[in-house]
Amino acid sequence: MEFRRWIIDGEILDPERGFEPRALRVEVREDPLTGHTARLLSAAGLLPPQDPDELRALGERTRAGCPFCPERAEAATPKLPAEIAPEGRIRRGEALLFPNLLPYARFSSVSLYSPERHVLALDELTPRLVADNLAAQVAWARACVEADPSAGWVSINANHMLPSGSSIFHPHLQGAVNPVPTTMQRLLAQVPAGRFRDYLAHERAEGVRYLGGRARVEWLASFAPLGPCELRAFVPGVASPASLDEETVEELGAGVATAAGLYAELGYGSFNLALYGAPPGTDGYPLNLRMICRSSLTPFYRSDATCLERLHWEAAIDTSPEELARAAGDRFTKPG
Ligand SMILES: [Zn+2]
Repeated sequence: MEFRRWIIDGEILDPERGFEPRALRVEVREDPLTGHTARLLSAAGLLPPQDPDELRALGERTRAGCPFCPERAEAATPKLPAEIAPEGRIRRGEALLFPNLLPYARFSSVSLYSPERHVLALDELTPRLVADNLAAQVAWARACVEADPSAGWVSINANHMLPSGSSIFHPHLQGAVNPVPTTMQRLLAQVPAGRFRDYLAHERAEGVRYLGGRARVEWLASFAPLGPCELRAFVPGVASPASLDEETVEELGAGVATAAGLYAELGYGSFNLALYGAPPGTDGYPLNLRMICRSSLTPFYRSDATCLERLHWEAAIDTSPEELARAAGDRFTKPG
C-alpha cells in the first residue's frame, strides 16, 4: 500500500526581511482508504488553546435555561416510542438517551453523559461516562434496527461544545439510524476489506502514527486528516455500532476518554466524533471512528472550517499527525 504525499514549493518576497525571496512549502497527502486529500501547513497557530475560564463562564450563563439539566430534562425532552424503549428513555449509569426533537435521520437520538454535568471539560470525560453513554446509544441503535431492519446505517456522533456545531451547551452524543448512508459512510463502506487490513498493517509496521490499543480497538493518528489532530480507531470484526458487545463498548469508551484527555492536554476544548457504521453483518467492514479538534470557545473565535473544509472537502491544518502521535505516546495501550 502506498501512502502518497506531495511537497509543493512556493516563494514570496518577505516583508519582514526587506522583501528578500523566501521559500514556502505545503504538503498534500492522500488518505489511503477513501483517496481524499489533506493540506498540511507549517505551524501557524491556527487553533489557539481553550481558556478554561471562558468555557466555565459560558457554562454558567447557559445553565439556567438548559433543557438537559436535571430540573428540566424529564419534562422538556421527548420520549421514545414503546417499540424502541418501553420506559420512554434509555439509561446507562449516569447517561440518559431520548429522541432528538430535530430529526436528522429515520431515527435520531440525543444522549447526555449525565443530566447532572452541564459543564464537562474534555479532561473530565472519564472512561465510565463515555462507555455508559456509548452503551445507551448501542442499546438504542439495536432497538431501532430491530424495529426497522431497512434502517441499517447507524452512526454515533459528537459535537462537543458550540464551535463543533452543538446548539445546546450541555455535553451529549447524537445517534442516527437511517435507511441510506451519509456520504462518508458510503465512501468508507465502499473500501475493500483488504484495504483496511493493509492500512492498519502499514501503520503498525511504520510505527510513527500507530497508537496501539487493547484487545479489540486499534488507534492511530490519521495520515491525511479531515481536521486538526485527527485520531482514528478501527474495530475489526464489527460492522455496526448496533453489533457492539459490552467489552468492546468499554474499550471504545476508554479510548475516546483517552483521546479527549489528550486533546485537553494539548489545550483544546471542543471536538467532533463520528463512529461510522455499515449495515450490521457487512462482510469485512471494520467499524471506523474519527475524532478531530475544533476551534476553542471564545468570543470572536476563528472557525477552523474554511472554504477548503466546507466547499473543497479538503482540510488545511497546521497540526502535524506525527507530532500528535508523539504527544499521545503509549496512553492508548495502557489498561484501564
Ligand atoms: Zn444543562
